[in-house]
Amino acid sequence: MIITTLSLGAIKKDHNLMVKERMEKGKTIFDLGQIMKINNSSFIIASQTNLGQSYNVRLYNNTTNIKPYDMKHLEYKYNYTCTCPDYQFRSLEVGPCKHIYAVQYQLGLK
Ligand SMILES: [Zn+2]
Repeated sequence: MIITTLSLGAIKKDHNLMVKERMEKGKTIFDLGQIMKINNSSFIIASQTNLGQSYNVRLYNNTTNIKPYDMKHLEYKYNYTCTCPDYQFRSLEVGPCKHIYAVQYQLGLK
């Protein structure tokens, strides 16, 4: 029982840490000016791990899930997608990738 509790605690901490790391990496991408704006809803960010590879972050107006009281929270105004492997395979688990956070910083939503 004690082991189970400790394990769950470790997993939760790990998850929060992963989110925090993504946000910090996103901030760094923004600070370094590595975001190329294509238009208001499309951004290109060069991969830092795969040379010559770049990823596309897209914004979609969030018209389905938004509630009136959410309007003050601008980050809920959009749904985001990214073409990177991290987003494709892990977004359900840990949320947005660092590229999406970077775009949120760029847009002043973070
Ligand atoms: Zn990404």
